[in-house]
Amino acid sequence: TLSDRLTGVFDRLRGRGALNEQDVREAMREVRVALLEADVALPVARSFIDKVTEKAVGQQVLKSVTPGQQVVKIVNDELVAMLGGDEVAPLDLDARPPVVVMMVGLQGSGKTTSTAKIARLLKEKQGKKPLMASLDVNRPAAQEQLKVLGEQTGVATLPIIVGQQPVDIARRAIEAAKLQAVDVLLLDTAGRLHVDEALMAEMKAVASVTTPTEVLLVVDSLTGQDAVNVAQSFSDEVPLTGVVLTRMDGDARGGAALSMRAVTGKPIKFAGTGEKLDAIEAFHPGRVASRILGMGDIVGLVEKAAAAVEKEEADRLAERMLKGKFDMNDLRSQLRQMQQMGGLGMLAGLMPGMKKAKQAMASSGMDDKVLVHLDAIIGSMTPRERENPDLLNAKRKKRVAAGSGTSVQEVNKLLKMHQEMGRAMKQIRKMGGLKGLGALFG
Ligand code: GDP
Ligand code: MG
Repeated sequence: TLSDRLTGVFDRLRGRGALNEQDVREAMREVRVALLEADVALPVARSFIDKVTEKAVGQQVLKSVTPGQQVVKIVNDELVAMLGGDEVAPLDLDARPPVVVMMVGLQGSGKTTSTAKIARLLKEKQGKKPLMASLDVNRPAAQEQLKVLGEQTGVATLPIIVGQQPVDIARRAIEAAKLQAVDVLLLDTAGRLHVDEALMAEMKAVASVTTPTEVLLVVDSLTGQDAVNVAQSFSDEVPLTGVVLTRMDGDARGGAALSMRAVTGKPIKFAGTGEKLDAIEAFHPGRVASRILGMGDIVGLVEKAAAAVEKEEADRLAERMLKGKFDMNDLRSQLRQMQQMGGLGMLAGLMPGMKKAKQAMASSGMDDKVLVHLDAIIGSMTPRERENPDLLNAKRKKRVAAGSGTSVQEVNKLLKMHQEMGRAMKQIRKMGGLKGLGALFG
């Protein structure tokens, strides 16, 4: 898998320091191959690699993990970001009812099935009153298919009038939805085996009479490289608002997801995960990122490794605390550890829990420079003072401030921090290490 390969590339560099450009580029060659194997479109893969290279070069390597593991983490984070971040994108239903959701896509992509799945979700999970209408007059059984799915899910469908054209059906659907006080009207449109003008014209005509709030492009995730062309053609013609990726239960390698998002710039809102009508879920970028990298749980591993080191250190310090021995030397080692780990920014990027701690530090005027200042202050103390900060009287504080090029105020801040850390240290141990760090600065 890609994670194995990346780890391999970096294995001979085991050790510390910053990630250098040549090694990162070598690793990126592996990433490129993996992306293409996962069916990510070439231009998308390229721009992805540029972004990751920029982020990785020069980054400090965590003491607790290998460079390879760290690169995997960076690649993963960028994948997740490109797939839409941590957030799932819900349907936008914020319009005057009936809110119109229009499903578009190629034939066989899963439009009709997804229409029924989403209608069912709206009804069962959100207590909405949906109505479904099929505008697919090309295939004889298409409207009948939606009707059957409606019966299976208990969602109303617009009665079929044989011979009516799509735009007329759409108008009739809007009228019916208004009369029946429907919340959401789902329009299942016709698809073709390939993108063609007639299909696009019909789609635009339907959109103009129904002014949909959501236009969802339904794409088969097995489409691979071709997914980009499909997405491009549709998004050139109609204002898409989101994507539904179907057949994520198959052997899809997730590449279509990345390409989709990059080409349309629209969030992937749902993933279809089977033929059954409840086989649909909100799209989770993190899961698909892991799938593309085939990395299993290496990200979790890196997070755990980082946390373990923190915990070890916290435990050691807590031990000293309990013995009444957490002194300035310990504080200094703690501060240095933070710097080594790439400063506050790196920490925050690596571990979700650290974001809060960093915000707290930033709002109390603490940044990476402050770490250096604090270190200097401790350096200006005598060995005895470091072991017993109570010895620092007003006169000594002045000297220490002068010696470290800081102010008495900053010296006092450090002393207060030391006191609070001591108190928090006991708690941290109880809380299991890293998570407790936030409490230090809160
Ligand atoms: P349409 O032509 O775009 O309306 O496509 P359909 O909704 O009729 O789906 C075509 C086929 O794909 C049907 O047999 C569906 O059961 C199947 N299908 C749709 N979505 C999924 C999915 O997420 N997973 C799997 N395994 N099959 C799906
Ligand atoms: Mg259909």
